[in-house]
Amino acid sequence: MLRARSPPVKHSPPAYGYASGLVHNILSLDPAHPTAHPVVMNSLVPPFGGHCLCGAVRYACDAIPLWQVHCHCQSCRRATSSGFTSFLAVADGHWRWTGAAPAVFNSSPGVWRSFCATCGSQMAYRADEIPGELHFYAASLDDPALFQPTRHDFADEALPWVHLADGLPRR
Ligand SMILES: [Zn+2]
Ligand SMILES: [Zn+2]
Repeated sequence: MLRARSPPVKHSPPAYGYASGLVHNILSLDPAHPTAHPVVMNSLVPPFGGHCLCGAVRYACDAIPLWQVHCHCQSCRRATSSGFTSFLAVADGHWRWTGAAPAVFNSSPGVWRSFCATCGSQMAYRADEIPGELHFYAASLDDPALFQPTRHDFADEALPWVHLADGLPRR
């Protein structure tokens, strides 16, 4: 007996999200994946973490960063052998080492730089005059693309061959 062929199944329309542009904009940035919660793209939403080059030193954070900046100061450039470096600050009590504990170098009075004793990667910065927070290097993040810098610090010490037209404030 011949049976009528059923039409191919089409993708089900989303339950919501397309009917109202306003609802769509509130609910999701991606029309293919409407969600019940706002989607925050490209930002360091906890939990997040990072690691050194060899993977021995690892850290985990459970709070959003206090701030995220680039630093052009001579000390940071020297410590990282780079044109400049980038930091995110995390409040004490909201980060922890999850791998090997890093070695610590007292780079100037009251300043402590942590690094992997195996591979040498710079991991964190702490200054006595900025109590209660540890500054991780953005490039050590598991996903460094999530870093969102808001400022250039010590821009007056920037090297003449570093040209950044990102429009961020400098101080
Ligand atoms: Zn390492
Ligand atoms: Zn610096």
